[in-house]
Amino acid sequence: MSIVDTPERRQLRELTRAFVTREVLPHLDEWERAGEVPRALHATAAKLGLLGIGFPESVGGSGGDLLDSILVTEELIRSGGSSGLVAALFTHGIALPHMVAAAGARSGGSLGGRLGGGSTPGGDDLIERYVRPTLAGTTIGALAITEPDGGSDVAGIRTTARRDGDHYVVNGSKTYITSGHRADFVTTAVCTEFPGSGELTLLVIDKGTPGFTVGRRLEKLGWHCSDTAELSFVDVRVPVANRIGAENTGFLAIMQHFAAERLSLATQAYATAQRCVELAVRWCRDRETFGRPLVSRQLVRHRLAEMHTRTEAARSYVHEVAARVAAGEPVVTEVAMAKNIAVAACDHVVDQALQLHGGFGYLRDAEVERHYRDARILGIGGGTTEIMNEIIAKGMGL
Ligand SMILES: Cc1cc2nc3c(=O)[nH]c(=O)nc-3n(C[C@H](O)[C@H](O)[C@H](O)COP(=O)(O)OP(=O)(O)OC[C@H]3O[C@@H](n4cnc5c(N)ncnc54)[C@H](O)[C@@H]3O)c2cc1C
Repeated sequence: MSIVDTPERRQLRELTRAFVTREVLPHLDEWERAGEVPRALHATAAKLGLLGIGFPESVGGSGGDLLDSILVTEELIRSGGSSGLVAALFTHGIALPHMVAAAGARSGGSLGGRLGGGSTPGGDDLIERYVRPTLAGTTIGALAITEPDGGSDVAGIRTTARRDGDHYVVNGSKTYITSGHRADFVTTAVCTEFPGSGELTLLVIDKGTPGFTVGRRLEKLGWHCSDTAELSFVDVRVPVANRIGAENTGFLAIMQHFAAERLSLATQAYATAQRCVELAVRWCRDRETFGRPLVSRQLVRHRLAEMHTRTEAARSYVHEVAARVAAGEPVVTEVAMAKNIAVAACDHVVDQALQLHGGFGYLRDAEVERHYRDARILGIGGGTTEIMNEIIAKGMGL
């Protein structure tokens, strides 16, 4: 039995699948054209307890651990959703955890909250103002680290925050920010010393604060239902009360929470591959060429077998590493390897799946076409494949 295959998790999988079938599939094409998912979807997902998975009940979450979050991500894609949908609907997965950790809230081990368990009293001010309403589906948050000058070099951030009484004055810009258009607040990495000093602090900046403007909606190869924005800060006054944790602890906080983000992206990668294997198998059974179904050809069967093998290997490894992260093991290198293994499997599978679909695979009408486009970001976001290799090499003592 797989580590994510418990009766409770099977129930969570079924809940997620029903959500996708009922609330997502009839509208996904429309959201892809609109360039965003509606706010109402957040509220619906919250009511079902899906938004809160992986967050402690004490902050308004549904409980559960990283493996539960991974399972939800996997099922959102396997049942016909997409990694773009995950990015848009679950942006809080990268926007909130620093606040939860700073408040000292502990993650629940078993699923409870809206999924049926009890609850414990809430945390501090940021939890009440941002975490609870977001997990309830009434507000949307984003995480802004990347800047026009570069994303890989996090320590090189140039957006500054100068202390002025009980406020910080923020100046700078961010780019490629997921849900940046719809977000009510942005967890923003700023530099409290001189630009590029690496002394980072996280501030929560509200939309509507004077000097904070959201720029053009960025058009992308994939993830069309996920809005992506440029953000600009000109003398934006942010209350010190909106600081997450102590000053200059931002770099460590960002690095600590990269593990969950990278494993989510790894999950999106193997789940996309898994979905594409299923789509390709179905297609190859139905499609006849030269009077026989495609699947009757050994070459095609072996290609499908190779796709399935790479996907399963990636899935097993991501699950194993996620279980070690959930257990509190320091597995930075393994997380990087898991991301690269899953992304490589996904890249191979989406390409092969599209090829097996022939001309139809190239059309917008084909689901596999969307996965092919969506998949390309997975080796870029949350730390590129090259940056993962740097981490792995460091882990090898090189
Ligand atoms: C759709 C989308 C959504 C995103 N969402 C968010 C978000 O919500 N929040 C956020 O903060 N960011 C977000 N990003 C940004 C993303 O995290 C960055 O694009 C990524 O970290 C890479 O940074 P960069 O684009 O500046 O590339 P660069 O850092 O400029 O790198 C360019 C290339 O050089 C390579 N490279 C860099 N340094 C080295 C090195 N030392 N050795 C070898 N190769 C190297 C990289 O691997 C890459 O191939 C998003 C990006 C996209 C496209």
